[in-house]
Amino acid sequence: MRRKREKTELLAPGGSYEMARAAYDAGADSVYVGPVGWSRRRSFYELSDEDIKRVIDYAHEHGKLLRVAMNTLPSTWEISKGLQKIENFIKMGIDGIVLTDPGFINRVHTNFPGLEIHASVGCSAMNREEFKFYADMGIDVVTVPTELNIKELKQLQDDDACGVEILVHANRDFTYLGRCTMSSYFKHVWKKASDGKNHFHGSPNRGGLCWRVCKSQWCLTEKTNGRASEFGSPEDLGNVAFFLFEEVPDYMKMKVDCLKIQGREYTVPLVSDIVKFYRELMDACMEGQDPTSDPEWIKRREAMITRRDNERDTKTKELLNECGEIKTTTEPVTVGEN
Ligand code: SF4
Repeated sequence: MRRKREKTELLAPGGSYEMARAAYDAGADSVYVGPVGWSRRRSFYELSDEDIKRVIDYAHEHGKLLRVAMNTLPSTWEISKGLQKIENFIKMGIDGIVLTDPGFINRVHTNFPGLEIHASVGCSAMNREEFKFYADMGIDVVTVPTELNIKELKQLQDDDACGVEILVHANRDFTYLGRCTMSSYFKHVWKKASDGKNHFHGSPNRGGLCWRVCKSQWCLTEKTNGRASEFGSPEDLGNVAFFLFEEVPDYMKMKVDCLKIQGREYTVPLVSDIVKFYRELMDACMEGQDPTSDPEWIKRREAMITRRDNERDTKTKELLNECGEIKTTTEPVTVGEN
């Protein structure tokens, strides 16, 4: 039976121990962190088990929650290893876990029936039937795809099968979040960790990365009888970071379970300020105000978006350079050959 929240929870990223602490101090009710090799970020933004314990202790000293994201897709032998890790995290005192793989979800719920499980946005649960499916699997809260509008969200809430978690700060890919395989075509590197776990660098689902290859400039060409033809001008494949604002009062009225901020790869000051922004906005909504047309709030939001975009652009350039195998419009990528 899922835990009913009295108020909407603000959930923040913890890309390091320092970031987690800063997020709690800025007003987050809960934080999610990834153990090294098991979440969809590079290890630099994941935490060692020792650091996860430090975050748990800090969270609980301050009356807050800590969830662990293990939302990669495990192979068969990794399931038992993952279960051991989760058992250890439960002993440490985690408040919940974030998972994607249905087989893993099933085993985790069977082995640890009291553990709160959130279905990651990578599950792409779009409709009521999927919500019921995940409820039957033992899921407490589902992070919904970023493409759903308020009407669709209300329909999902109607059955009260699972709680709803909404990304208020994330990006809207031209694919569904968690389903993109583009990077895997560019980074064919496998690496074995010291524990034998196999990591494929081209896929965040398998302990690798999204290299943001969609942010390179693309051009479609077709080769016919050995001759290449180009179609149209360079295309931006559309990966837009968003910063929801006007929607938040409606989400609060709907009493969604969690509003989640993505961004384990941002700097600590930026994450702290984003958390503060949403904390104050949510508190204002709980007091019956709607500050979304207040010019001061709008200015503050715009300034935050500019900072976010600057950090994001720098990071994207670094990733593309590091990936190093992206073909640009000067050397078009061939997507069709007949
Ligand atoms: S390559 Fe682009 S579309 Fe694919 S997961 Fe990464 S950011 Fe999203």
